[in-house]
Amino acid sequence: LIQLYIPMNFLGVLYREVKQSLADLDKMFTLLAREREVADAPGAVALQVSGVTVRFEDVHFAYEPARPILHGVSFEIPAGRTVAVVGASGAGKSTLSRLLYRFYDVSGGRITIDGQDIRQVTQDSLRRAIGIVPQDTVLFNDTVAYNIGYGRTGATRDEIEAAARAAHIHDFIVAQPKGYDTVVGERGLKLSGGEKQRVAIARTLLKNPPVLVFDEATSALDSANERAIQAELKSASQGKTTLVIAHRLSTVVQAHEILVMDAGHIVERGTHEALLAAGGRYARMWALQHRRPEDTAQDPHGHQVA
Ligand code: ATP
Repeated sequence: LIQLYIPMNFLGVLYREVKQSLADLDKMFTLLAREREVADAPGAVALQVSGVTVRFEDVHFAYEPARPILHGVSFEIPAGRTVAVVGASGAGKSTLSRLLYRFYDVSGGRITIDGQDIRQVTQDSLRRAIGIVPQDTVLFNDTVAYNIGYGRTGATRDEIEAAARAAHIHDFIVAQPKGYDTVVGERGLKLSGGEKQRVAIARTLLKNPPVLVFDEATSALDSANERAIQAELKSASQGKTTLVIAHRLSTVVQAHEILVMDAGHIVERGTHEALLAAGGRYARMWALQHRRPEDTAQDPHGHQVA
């Protein structure tokens, strides 16, 4: 029986390996399929960036024609400033970041960077100008160094370490037996949501783009992790044109302008102080999030119910 068991066991391991590889391939094809949603316009030119002002002008969008998601969204992020977007789950906040990165094209209106319609420039130049720290960072089944270094081809180990230090993940990395050579991802060391976001921040710092999009993790972080991420975000966004998609309100207080979204519309806008003084939806959301935790209502996904 043992003679049978060994090959069967080997086959089991092999099966799991193949299945995992297929899962990775599947993820890659999903990403590639998304990339194919848009194409360079004939004669597209490279994006010219100077100060870097981002504008959404009366943007309409639907993933599926029968279900419009954005209904005429307009705002501007002046060069070097931060605009934060808040609102209930499903309001269309993350959709804004997907449109800016041109995973999809707008159905109406336009998005410009320094006056250039992003549909008229090459995707390559657009994506070089924008760094996204996504909600759920996909880590490659590779070393931490590779995962951070992916932000900029040819980055040296010293540059990778400097980015990791700035993202406050260096100490955690060197505490692992294999340090920067530790394999992470589904088949390696599993990182917490906060640690993954810090790897993504390090990756983006290394890329050093003029436009930063920070799509805050929806999953609740413990308060120490949340404060750390906020501090890193603050230093990372210094001097950059930044869009923060906020799922908690604590990240938005310093923003130049806060947009409150509901069902694809901007229903309130202003600074934190102005919105609190206005006593509208933002003020109610703020009051709700700053109750004692045991009083705060949450939906099943951990979102605060506004
Ligand atoms: P959350 O706070 O939960 O992240 P959000 O405000 O960021 O929400 P979006 O992710 O922008 O919301 O989604 C807006 C709407 O678009 C949702 O109703 C969602 O179901 C829908 N949606 C998102 N992605 C797709 C997609 N790829 N195909 C079809 N519908 C989608």
